[in-house]
This record gives sequence, structure tokens and C-alpha cells, in this order.
Amino acid sequence: MLDKLGQNISTALNKIKSATLVDKKLIKEVIKDIQKALIQSDVNVKLVLKMSKDIEKKAIEENPPKGLTKKEHIIQIVYNELVQLIGNEPQKLDLDPSKKSIILLVGIQGSGKTTSSAKLARLIQKRGLKPALIAADVYRPAAYKQLQQLAEKINVPLYGDETRTKTPIEIAKDGLNKLKKADVFIIDTAGRHKEESGLLTEMKELKDELNPKEIVLVIDGTLGQQAKNQAKAFKDAVEDIGSILVTKLDGSAKGGGALSAVAEINAPIKFIGTGEGVDDLETFEPKKFISRLLGMGDLDSLLEKTDDIVEEANEEDIEAILKGKFTLVELYSQLETISKMGPMKQILSMIPGMGASMPKEAASLTEQKLKRYKILMDSMTEEEKENPELIKTSRMQRIARGAGAKQEEVKELLKYYQTTKNAFSNLKRGKMLKMGGQMGK
Ligand code: GDP
Repeated sequence: MLDKLGQNISTALNKIKSATLVDKKLIKEVIKDIQKALIQSDVNVKLVLKMSKDIEKKAIEENPPKGLTKKEHIIQIVYNELVQLIGNEPQKLDLDPSKKSIILLVGIQGSGKTTSSAKLARLIQKRGLKPALIAADVYRPAAYKQLQQLAEKINVPLYGDETRTKTPIEIAKDGLNKLKKADVFIIDTAGRHKEESGLLTEMKELKDELNPKEIVLVIDGTLGQQAKNQAKAFKDAVEDIGSILVTKLDGSAKGGGALSAVAEINAPIKFIGTGEGVDDLETFEPKKFISRLLGMGDLDSLLEKTDDIVEEANEEDIEAILKGKFTLVELYSQLETISKMGPMKQILSMIPGMGASMPKEAASLTEQKLKRYKILMDSMTEEEKENPELIKTSRMQRIARGAGAKQEEVKELLKYYQTTKNAFSNLKRGKMLKMGGQMGK
């Protein structure tokens, strides 16, 4: 399994952590270990060599920045280089709202393609565009029904052929004609055929006929080396894969397999699936992914990450809070910051003594809550977010409806907001900045 990559790199870094003397010889040795780990995971050799040269140069020549020891500095250099290896900045799905676009999802059966089609539709819907789903998997009998149920749930139009008499191309074309009101068409394709070559030919035909704006390759995040082979097979067939969507990263999988898929086909990961629900899709953030891959389970790395995030945190928000302004707008950014830091479970596991004592359910419940709160706030108007006191019963009902939630949840969110607001107003400037670490600022 590719989670081994994370383990191997962590083991190499531990040599640095536990050394009494960090000298050139040790640095070179550790870099060799990292090289080996990456090459074993099929990351492109040229990339690995360039990366290790960069690490070596920085580790030997650069002085640690203020506040970091030599050891911490080297760990940070390795971490940053790994982040760059997979793209550094999050990549967005680039859609032109004035044009109709087609997104073709490809991947093998069981990868999570059908679920991801609906999740993508939901995300696009949240961006204010009008998605439609087309069920072009005629191989798996239950695929149409599954997508139909998901489409109903998120209120997105669907086209498909339950009788399975049409070809996937016919279905797609009919869907494009019938669902004229939509501006983004998401096409779910087959993930299995009698023979693999049949599947790949079908994908190529779909691509040639439909000329999609983006082909998204869906990869199961729990896969190891197979991820690379799958990526290669699809890339050879359709040629231009625009992005990768890695599913099932909510479990214990660390998604290392995805890294070699990226290296293999040179397409960025844009999304990750973090659960079975339609809202469980996140835009991919390389920093978060690498921390997770390395299982950085210690306080140092938490502080490192927190520092990073303090830099990124919106200064205007901090200013506003310090001046006593704390509306739902600020609460929203605060939740965003917390979710940027990664799953709560992971953050808690970095705090000594905390990981073990926290029941798993409690931690994941909090994560789930964060997500729900954000969804609720997405269905509020700007005016409501700026003036939460406006939200009385009828507005609560509307917000709950818009978010597919119960009114109680809106009440609960407002209560959470009030508690946080009170906590903030009790804090003085210095105290609050210190607490930022705990609150995820
Ligand atoms: P397909 O054959 O590629 O269309 O795969 P499906 O969409 O039917 O997904 C296969 C299984 O994986 C289903 O049970 C999904 O609920 C599950 N699944 C898909 N994405 C995720 C995810 O991000 N996390 C988890 N935990 N399960 C997922």
C-alpha cells in the first residue's frame, strides 16, 4: 500500500528528529531515504532527483528562520517540497458560466463515480450554476436508479435510459438535447465491461463525440499501486484527463496511491471525497494532503500548520473581531479556517494526550457539525449573515429548507454563534491571539 510512502518518509524524518547532531552526512542520508521512498512509490524519477537536490541545498545552506530549530527547519523544507510536488496551490474546476460545459467522469466500477457525479453536481449548484446529470453507465443495472435517487435528493435534473437499450453516446446526446435549461452536464459513465479494452474504447468514443470541457478521473483513495495503473490506462485511452477526484479519504486511507496517479498522468487532483453523502466533496488542498500522508502526529507539526494558517487567515477578519465585530460572516471564516486545518480527529491527535482520550464518535461529530453549519450559512442572505438578529422563525424556516435541514439546526447554529461571540467579547486582545491557536486561527 502507498500509505507506506508516508510511513517511509516519516521514518526518514524521525532520523533527523532523534539525532543529537544534524550534519551534512545525516542530511544526505535522510534525503537518500526519501528518494528511495518516492521512487518506490513510482513518483517520476526526474522529479524526485530535482526535489532532493532542492532539499539538500536548502537544508545545508539556509539558516533556520526565527523560532525554528535546525531540525524543525529541515522537516519543514521536506514538507514544503512534497507539497509543491503535488501542486502547491489548490486547483479549481474552471467553468465559464456563459457557456454550456460537459464534464465526463471516468473510472473503474466501485471507485465512487456515481456518488461523485452527484457530489459534483451539488458543488456546481452551490456555485450558482445549473447542473444536470446524465446516467450513461449502461453496464451496471443499478447505476441509473442510484443516480436517480441522488439527483432527486439534490434536486438536479437527470437523464438516462432505464431500459438500457440505447448506447452511452445516444444517451448522452439525448440528455444534452432534453435538459436544455442546464449549463453544466455531468456524465456518469460505465466502470466495467466484459473486457477492459471495451471500457476504454467506450470512453474514447464518448470523448470524441462529446468534446467535454473536462474529463475527471475518479480514483479510489484506498488503492495502492493499482491507482497508478488505472490512471495510465485511462490516460492512454482518452489522452487528456483534466483532473483527478480521489474518493474515500474519510476512512483510514491516506491517499498515497493518488500521489503516484498524479505523477503518472500529470493531472492535478482537484477534489477529494470524504464521505458517502452528497455534500462530502472538498476541493483538494495539497498542504492538508501531505500532512495527512506523513501522519504528522505531533505538536510541532500542529504548531507549524497553525503558523501557516495564521499567515493565511484573513487579517480583516481578525481586525474586525478585535474591534468587537463578530457576525456570522466572521464565524463562517473561522469555520473555514478550522476545516482548512484538516479533520478534527487529526488535529486532536496532534495534541499530546488528546488523541487517545477523545472518543472517535465525538470528534467526527464535530467535523460533521462544522460542515452542516457551513451549509446552513450558505443558504442565508448576506444581510442575514451581517445581522444574525434578523433571523426569526420565518427566516429560520426558509434557511432550513434551502439547506435541506431542520429548523432546530438553524437554532443550534445561532446558539453556537452566540456562545462564540460571548467568548470573544470576554477576551482581551493579547489573550485572544494566544487562543487563536486553539480555535484554529
Ligand atoms: P461507481 O461504481 O464508481 O459508480 O461507485 P459508487 O458511486 O457506486 O460508489 C461505490 C461505493 O463507494 C458506494 O458504497 C459509495 O457510497 C462509496 N463511496 C463513494 N465515495 C465515497 C467517499 O468519498 N467516502 C466513502 N466512505 N464512501 C464513498
